[in-house]
Amino acid sequence: MTTLITNIGELTTNDGPALHDAAVLLDGERIAWVGSATDAPSSAETVDVGGRAVIPGFVDSHSHLVFAGDRAAEFEARMAGQKYAAGGIRSTVAATRAATDDELRARLRGFVDEMRAQGTTTVEIKSGYGLSVADEERLVRLAAEVTPEVTFLGAHVVPVEYAGRSDDYVDLVTGPMLDACAPHAKWIDVFCETGAFTVDQSRRVLEAGVSRGLVPRVHASQLGPGEGVRLAVELGAASVDHGTYLTDADIDALAGSDTVLTLLPGVEFSTRQPYPDARRLIDAGVTVALACDTNPGSSFTSSMPFCIAVAVRDMGMTPAEALRAATVGGAAALRRDDVGRIAPGMRADLVLLRAPTHVHLPYRPGVPLVERVWKDGSPVA
Ligand SMILES: [Zn+2]
Repeated sequence: MTTLITNIGELTTNDGPALHDAAVLLDGERIAWVGSATDAPSSAETVDVGGRAVIPGFVDSHSHLVFAGDRAAEFEARMAGQKYAAGGIRSTVAATRAATDDELRARLRGFVDEMRAQGTTTVEIKSGYGLSVADEERLVRLAAEVTPEVTFLGAHVVPVEYAGRSDDYVDLVTGPMLDACAPHAKWIDVFCETGAFTVDQSRRVLEAGVSRGLVPRVHASQLGPGEGVRLAVELGAASVDHGTYLTDADIDALAGSDTVLTLLPGVEFSTRQPYPDARRLIDAGVTVALACDTNPGSSFTSSMPFCIAVAVRDMGMTPAEALRAATVGGAAALRRDDVGRIAPGMRADLVLLRAPTHVHLPYRPGVPLVERVWKDGSPVA
């Protein structure tokens, strides 16, 4: 079954310069052909998009979608001047532990649908609101129902029952909890930050995950400078995420590495932290991704177009760079070579914009510009 998407005014492929008056042929779950509309092969089904823009589906490489409750009151207090701290995670842990699998599953699927409607076709999902062996196991198991990109984040924060005994909690995470979660996960993550886990504890968590075949990703330098970025580079992490407070040494280490820096502008927006300077990172040669970090505490947006708008407005990225970071950058952060680009052989994940150019994503912030979404060749929104 083939579908020809034709009369594309601007086609961003991430595989060379943008094409104009272009067409894309989908064959089953894959892209079969890309080129000029006048040279397009015939197809049983044809979709004429009337000169509008088509882009690759967004690859959101950082989210925390399995949880219960919300923290609207905490956000309201923060906007009235209270500072963000890592401990708020514990209130979501209490709500999540109290929820049934079906309650968590319904919420999770609702978020995935919400993301798809906004153009996200690949999403990574972390655990981290269970923090017991049984609860972390069910969070990674539920996440695996909706994505192959599942991350075990038992080391999100030390739970209340381990207060003052963080090394004992790391023993649990690297022992029985990892045993229970590794079969459902692809990635191992840790929140390396003051108030969460030290660099030595983070190293133990990541190395334990690696020994079980998981690949590291790291939360670091969100609340202040630290050693997490350099630890991530040293251990060959696929990505280090946040990077709100980077040192020159961090940037040098990233620029000489395969580790992607994933920027999460929804966090700075929602916590009133300073934005990282993406311009400086890109100019230094760092590979950057953009992701939503959808979570109830520090960034409760699921909109990649919103993150693109903020990255352009406040972080020094061009619209093309921000779109690239939100697609092929996310793919690099997940070490995926089958998504993030529109080229023959890639997964048929595409977004039709109700706009003549991708520049409208940051130019028209907050406007629902995603008109149609194909995932694996099928319309999903
Ligand atoms: Zn996160």
